[in-house]
Amino acid sequence: MHDHTEINEEPNKTVPCLTLDAQGWVGGVQHMPSPNCDARPTDCDISLLVIHNISLPPGRFGGRAIEDLFLNRLDPTAHPDFVGIAALRVSAHFLIRRGGQIVQFVSCAQRAWHAGESSLAGRSRCNDFSVGIELEGTDFVAFTSAQYRALARLTTGLRRGLPLRAVRGHEHIAPKRKTDPGPCFDWRRYARQAHLPEDWLPA
Ligand SMILES: [Zn+2]
Repeated sequence: MHDHTEINEEPNKTVPCLTLDAQGWVGGVQHMPSPNCDARPTDCDISLLVIHNISLPPGRFGGRAIEDLFLNRLDPTAHPDFVGIAALRVSAHFLIRRGGQIVQFVSCAQRAWHAGESSLAGRSRCNDFSVGIELEGTDFVAFTSAQYRALARLTTGLRRGLPLRAVRGHEHIAPKRKTDPGPCFDWRRYARQAHLPEDWLPA
């Protein structure tokens, strides 16, 4: 295997590896810096990936509403569902669109505001020590092959630069409040494509 390529799911097709720069930004993806972030606690190990789903309005794909929400410019009058969320100050490090395009909103060196009240194995405030990845989707529709490929590629790139050792869904770290990514997210497929160690996965 060439140093800078990896085998894609599709045979005879290679795609460049994604790499994290010293400032925590991934090269080769779109950057849309969000103000909704702050410093991680000092000496924090970035050990967890959190998988989410989002679509705005819920169940409708495409459009700019997710970016607008994360950039604090969502028009509350554009859809009835936007009224209650336009003033939220939220973000994730990454969004993976239905077609597999990756957008980065927050440097991995910074704390994005994606998980809210949450805990992993008794450790609270998962935002402190995690990277948040949103898949454009809902709990009730299968994610696309392009999204699994992009997620695997992103995960592989992040592992090279961060001391990751677990992946969870939002539903696992905030089980009373959240249901995403939901039953349509295929954890086995993700683990296989991203070559994840078995002990990284939710039980
Ligand atoms: Zn979520």
